[in-house]
Amino acid sequence: MMRALFLLVSFLILLPAAGAADEVCVGEYCYDADDSGSFYQSYLFSTTSNAFDIVMIGDGYTEAEMDKFIASATVMADSFITINPYAAESCAFRIWIVRLISEDSGIEVEGSSTWGNQDTALDAVFGDGMNITVDFDKVWKAVDSSAVPGSDFVCVLVNDPSGNDGAWAYQSERVCLVTGAWPWGVTMAHELGHLIANLGDEYQCVQCDQSAGFLTTADWTRTYSEATVAAADQIDNPNLATDIGVLGWQAEINPNQILPSHALNVCSGTTVGAWEGGGKYRYGVWRSEEYCIMDGWQCPSEDHFCYACSSALAAAILPCATAFPDCAYIPFKAPRLLRARSLPPELRIPFAEDTHIEIDIPPCWTCIPDSTDVPGPPLPETYGVGIVIQNLPEGTRVAVYTSMLDLVAEQVASANGSVEITFEADTLKRYFLTLDIPAGNEGMLVNTMLSINGAQVDL
Ligand SMILES: [Zn+2]
Repeated sequence: MMRALFLLVSFLILLPAAGAADEVCVGEYCYDADDSGSFYQSYLFSTTSNAFDIVMIGDGYTEAEMDKFIASATVMADSFITINPYAAESCAFRIWIVRLISEDSGIEVEGSSTWGNQDTALDAVFGDGMNITVDFDKVWKAVDSSAVPGSDFVCVLVNDPSGNDGAWAYQSERVCLVTGAWPWGVTMAHELGHLIANLGDEYQCVQCDQSAGFLTTADWTRTYSEATVAAADQIDNPNLATDIGVLGWQAEINPNQILPSHALNVCSGTTVGAWEGGGKYRYGVWRSEEYCIMDGWQCPSEDHFCYACSSALAAAILPCATAFPDCAYIPFKAPRLLRARSLPPELRIPFAEDTHIEIDIPPCWTCIPDSTDVPGPPLPETYGVGIVIQNLPEGTRVAVYTSMLDLVAEQVASANGSVEITFEADTLKRYFLTLDIPAGNEGMLVNTMLSINGAQVDL
């Protein structure tokens, strides 16, 4: 212990002094220059020069906050690239983190004392709840002045003092905006889905603001009609259809499936079909699966692109990736993390190291009822859920969380390897199970059983 401490102290002393980097200005933009004079750092997945270049740049970060910006940008890039199809085609991306300095810390937030009072490099503002805007001309000038090697798309991380969580994509500007305080890769994956593949939002509300209580009935019941929306607002995305008879993913639908798809007739949210709602409409728009990263509201922990989105993204990315067979393929940054879409009856422990597994508890029982004959917000119902897991390695932690990461229940497996968890599930929430398995148990078979209101469910 003392030796480790001594080594750590020696290491710290040998590091260059913090703050050695210099602020260098080019025109009206100032950057944190490294020892070589560069204003950016690479976060490469591709060794090719013709990949998609994604620039991550901050607004509202002072020079003293540059480490905070780099940490957020790195976490976001690190986790976005583990999500398919980006992960499978990670060789198609190069990521550049540009260290742009703002005079003031924090962007302006409407309704707060910062409004009209902040001097930030890109003039990003947080207005009206989740709505972030920026001066696009400044974004591109700041990117160009940084001499970054490529810039197909720009993600601006805003330093937001209010802790708001919001993200926007402006497709015609090739710019997305995300909050640095919430560096979720899934958010970047969603916004890049808009920019790279023209994916539409799959959520069904306009405000999507859970903090204001539940959605208003007017928001919840909007019906899309091509005849009444302005031409500019008509839905034209590969992952959405406005005619259930003309679905871009029709060939993938089992002909025996009753359409529209519904939790009552298809007991899996991952079944490709015609699920109603999307493009900020509740009715009259169809999507290919119940859950998708492009639906950012119902499933905040969701990390899965639906069939239509995956296909459109893969088509947009592949021409870049396949042109360079020598590209450096880095499949996953976190190999010990496994995510599963549904609880399997048997699970083989995949890794020799400490392993963290996250499994969605089947959505049939815990998703919001999706019935077109419900005129307003659905009423919550509860189910008694029981999960039994057998043959677990001793010391495995088993827990259930809501999709908002509230801990519902937890247990640690003892020597007999059996754990039973029961909890009351609310239909307005989604739940997932986590297993934290100690190292050295690769290949072991774990058995799971699920019961709903006391009746065992086929897995
Ligand atoms: Zn989708």
